[in-house]
Amino acid sequence: MRKDLIEFSYNVIRLPMSKVKVSIVKVEKDDVRGAVKRAVELLGGLEQFIDHSDDVLLKPNLLSAPNNEEVKAKIRTDPRVVETLANMVLELGKKVLIGDSSGAGQTGGTRAAIKRSGYLEIGEKSEKIQVRSLEEHGPTKVEINGKKLKEANISTEFLESKAVINIPKMKTHGLALYTGAIKNLYGTICGADKTRIHSLGATFNGFAQCLVDIYAFEKTRIKLNVMDAIIALEGMGPGAGGSPVEMNLILASADAVALDSVAFRIMGSDPKIVPTIRFAAEQGLGVMELEDIEIVGERIEDHKRKFKLPKVAFLGRIPFARFSNIIFEVPKYVEGCTGCLNCERACPEKVITITKNKKGQFIPKIDYNGCISCFTCIEICPEACYKTKNKNTLKIVLSILGTIVVAGIITTLILLL
Ligand code: SF4
Ligand code: SF4
Repeated sequence: MRKDLIEFSYNVIRLPMSKVKVSIVKVEKDDVRGAVKRAVELLGGLEQFIDHSDDVLLKPNLLSAPNNEEVKAKIRTDPRVVETLANMVLELGKKVLIGDSSGAGQTGGTRAAIKRSGYLEIGEKSEKIQVRSLEEHGPTKVEINGKKLKEANISTEFLESKAVINIPKMKTHGLALYTGAIKNLYGTICGADKTRIHSLGATFNGFAQCLVDIYAFEKTRIKLNVMDAIIALEGMGPGAGGSPVEMNLILASADAVALDSVAFRIMGSDPKIVPTIRFAAEQGLGVMELEDIEIVGERIEDHKRKFKLPKVAFLGRIPFARFSNIIFEVPKYVEGCTGCLNCERACPEKVITITKNKKGQFIPKIDYNGCISCFTCIEICPEACYKTKNKNTLKIVLSILGTIVVAGIITTLILLL
């Protein structure tokens, strides 16, 4: 084909598309309310997102909300962000439900976590705001028909909601690498089904695909995403094992993929290494590239900071996705166990047993033969008792060498025949 015709057809196909907006607002002088309002105003105002619904569900990231205030501040969505959005919804004459289903296995379940979260107090200020566990009305089993996840037990109340404001927190994650808008929707899965999906996913890419399948199924309900990046979290997140990072930012977008892409850039790394972001963009669930995004408010460059990433980050840099299914680390108990049993209950493979030593101290024992490196135990432990350690490196090296030798023999045989 002639070059001018190729260029002509290319131009016809590549019609200019409107860019997706992501707002970035700095929290000045602790004015969280002002920053949240500004972030939404920069997108054109709340009304356009939730106009067609009388009830709006606000879905923060609760995780476990332990008693320790410092730990709580770095792992759950700041109540001030949630309260501001609740009041903005009320001002539009609508009712609010604030709800989440927290990490599986913790003492007292989501109800106990909500009591400690600071969200109940928001509900006490208006009878039009209700706060409860998303498991309260039970799950409904639905067909997801995703690439990896075929069905899931999703909160019935979530499924009945037509307008949801997703309110994630900016954090790293030991298995998913990063948790933001897409990952926050894992909290719509009820109870033991979270552990089943962890077992089904079980790998860096596998778990990410399950998360993307959930997002694909729920996407039409998510009208807006507002991210709490006031105190973010780096290192071995998303729980007590990570370290707080003061960012003092609020981000917002109607596109969860674009929001996550911008957030991870602010965290100093390429969003392509995060499988949830990459898979979701490849599946056409949102945009990842900056050329498709219009940043409004602050500039990424002015707030960029190199976050410490969990070691799993290197898997995202391996170009051949199928090799990224190997995880080289397992949890290792260090100290501080109070015997709360959260990790024993939450472990999807049931390979943790809490024992007592001769001094009467609680000691978690892990059967590493059954461990799938999902790091749920690290995520759920309120005392940050776990770190990670390398798996048996000799075994890994021998299995890689074995694969190379077998591939060599097969290639030789093919050439000889
Ligand atoms: S021991 Fe921890 S990392 Fe291993 S399967 Fe259980 S919860 Fe997952
Ligand atoms: S290690 Fe101990 S304190 Fe941490 S979750 Fe397990 S039982 Fe609870």
